[in-house]
Amino acid sequence: MDKIYNHKDSEEKIYNKWEEAGAFKPEINPNGKPFSIILPPPNANAPLHFGHAMYVVEDILIRYHRMLGDASLWLPGADHAGFETQFVFEKQLQKEGKSRFDYDRGTLYKMIWDFVQGNRGTMENQLKRLGFSLDWSRMKFTLDPKVIEVVYKTFKKLHDDELVYRDLKLVNYCTKDGTGFSDLEVLHVEHNDPLYYMKYGPFVLATVRPETKFGDTAVAVHPKDLRYKEYIGKEIEFESLIGKVRLRVVGDEAVDPEFGTGVVKVTPSHDFTDFEIGKRHGLAMKQVIGFDGKLTEIAGKYEGLKVKEAREVISKDLIDQGLMEKVDDKYKHTVSTCYKCGRVLEPLPMEQWFIKVKPLVKESVKALKDKEIKVVPKRFEKTMIQWFDNFHDWNISRQLVWGIRIPAWKCEKCDEWIVTEGQSPEKCAKCNSKELVQDPDTFDTWFSSGQWPFATLMSSSSSKLKTKNSKIDEDSSDFEKFYPTSVMETAYDILPWWVCRMVMFGIYTTGKVPFKTVYYHGLIRDSKGQKMSKSKGNVINPIEMIEKYSADAVRMALVFGASAGNDQSLAEEKIRGMRNFANKLWNIARFIDINRTQNLKLKTQSLDELEKIAKEEADKRMIEAVKELTEKTTKHVEKFELNLAAEGLYEFVWHEFADKYIEDVKNRINKESFIILNSLFIIQLKLLHPFIPFITEEIFGKFTGNMLITERWPSFAKASTDVKALADRSAGSRRG
Ligand SMILES: [Zn+2]
Ligand SMILES: [Zn+2]
Repeated sequence: MDKIYNHKDSEEKIYNKWEEAGAFKPEINPNGKPFSIILPPPNANAPLHFGHAMYVVEDILIRYHRMLGDASLWLPGADHAGFETQFVFEKQLQKEGKSRFDYDRGTLYKMIWDFVQGNRGTMENQLKRLGFSLDWSRMKFTLDPKVIEVVYKTFKKLHDDELVYRDLKLVNYCTKDGTGFSDLEVLHVEHNDPLYYMKYGPFVLATVRPETKFGDTAVAVHPKDLRYKEYIGKEIEFESLIGKVRLRVVGDEAVDPEFGTGVVKVTPSHDFTDFEIGKRHGLAMKQVIGFDGKLTEIAGKYEGLKVKEAREVISKDLIDQGLMEKVDDKYKHTVSTCYKCGRVLEPLPMEQWFIKVKPLVKESVKALKDKEIKVVPKRFEKTMIQWFDNFHDWNISRQLVWGIRIPAWKCEKCDEWIVTEGQSPEKCAKCNSKELVQDPDTFDTWFSSGQWPFATLMSSSSSKLKTKNSKIDEDSSDFEKFYPTSVMETAYDILPWWVCRMVMFGIYTTGKVPFKTVYYHGLIRDSKGQKMSKSKGNVINPIEMIEKYSADAVRMALVFGASAGNDQSLAEEKIRGMRNFANKLWNIARFIDINRTQNLKLKTQSLDELEKIAKEEADKRMIEAVKELTEKTTKHVEKFELNLAAEGLYEFVWHEFADKYIEDVKNRINKESFIILNSLFIIQLKLLHPFIPFITEEIFGKFTGNMLITERWPSFAKASTDVKALADRSAGSRRG
């Protein structure tokens, strides 16, 4: 063995060997019981960051279950990430002095498609660099035709069940990016803005948005506000900047008598509360801000001004004409902004498709309460239920080209909408007209990724790799075998966007929960606990760290000290420390190797066999200790306490096995003690394999000529009952 382990020589070679052997396919354990994890699909266009590296948790679980003998499937995929990708692409267009408006829909889509394809391999290669044992033969993309088929079927079914409807409502719209968002996607930012007190006839009313005044269709007061009670139901007349205006005074509970003067203007087209007031009182809608972010012709001489300019010009004119009582300079309030470009979002009236969420939520909450889904850590169960309780109807229409186009057509003659599973309808179902126009909008990306666990498995058939005695025949689909999936593992920060929706759609479409356990990992922060970001310059690049210290060191660093659901600080020192651990392991292996050449024909023994050989007290104690280590590691992994498993292994291998035991054995090495030493080391390699797969594979290969990835997880006859039960369930495959 070389004096120093060189990860650069070994990692790629080993990964290829695993892949060539078909070790990542569940068929490698043909008789095992199914165990499955669907990889949260990274954005197909973006390079990897440390958040993705946390999927090491999934790899550890998959490798452990593979070693138990389970038919373990870890299915990779990529997300088209509609808005995110189109945003990045448009930025690139901008650099070339172009914009999305320079191209027709088809051309733009094709250009983004090529752009994404050009970048796609990057992400996949980076996942490979981390040693992730994903079954690449089952790779899925959210825009695969078969996946789209599933997504369309779900939409049609929702529509048939009247859980999808089309309605005109206000939407949070980014006038720069040209699309609406759901309420979950809105970034709420605190702003200091002037508060304007405008004169409206007998009233003075306060607003931060004088520019929407031409869209007013009423003024409102609280029905019990004695100051204004006499006005309710009457009309007021006053001078606005573009002529005389008459507005009705309505009494509505939504008005806060404490805000401003207790009188507010009602602009149903541009404010969510006003929209509701408008509905209650049958008020007209007047759109004074267009989708381009400029004032419409309703604003008279102010038409064409952008919102910000309009606010300045109009407030100045109001002051000049004596129509402004006063301006309070610093009014603190929360503003909805675009999470990508930072622009203030405009509430704008728009027809869209909505999902009626309440009925779907009911089943999801029930599944959580009935423990059909186990949540790790447990505290997130409550978080999920709280989100479910607060979900509103979800608008899934996005005004983007990059995405899955909504399979709905409008009849130009009678305005009827026809929804299909993707096929263009021949004629209107109501009036037989053939003048049908497809909805230009695409689905919110979360609508398709919310169906990911079943959409991937339904669109994938089992691989053709046939093994002797295989129970998997070519007809059995992945969906039948692997759904519900075993574990969903993801960062907690996408809990409401993604995880909750997967539960909703999973139960709705398949009648079953999409996963039996959901595990949330924490976020990776820098050594000072700050969020990593390009602007702060504190980003650590996982690939650089792999180059420098090995994938094993990166993996171990991510698990060590990181319990489920808690954020962790990651410093380069920690990764370096784990590289040192790998070096320690290599040195142990070298010591054994040197002695091995003198004892060539000695075979590795099981723990139970070793007990019979052991005569020395120190040997007996070490055998017991390794048994205990095996039990503890198994229990921790089963309970998703991967940090405890990793820490226990690290401590034991370094301080008990290397520092104490080997130091002692060195002086008395003989045939028996060598067998014990060698066998106990092999067991530790197996226990370490899911965490640091490359170096353990390298050593195991050198020692045995076999492949560690498909070896069985250590077990022994007198194991405690729960560990025994785990080992027994893979007994079938061992016999096979
Ligand atoms: Zn924006
Ligand atoms: Zn029609």
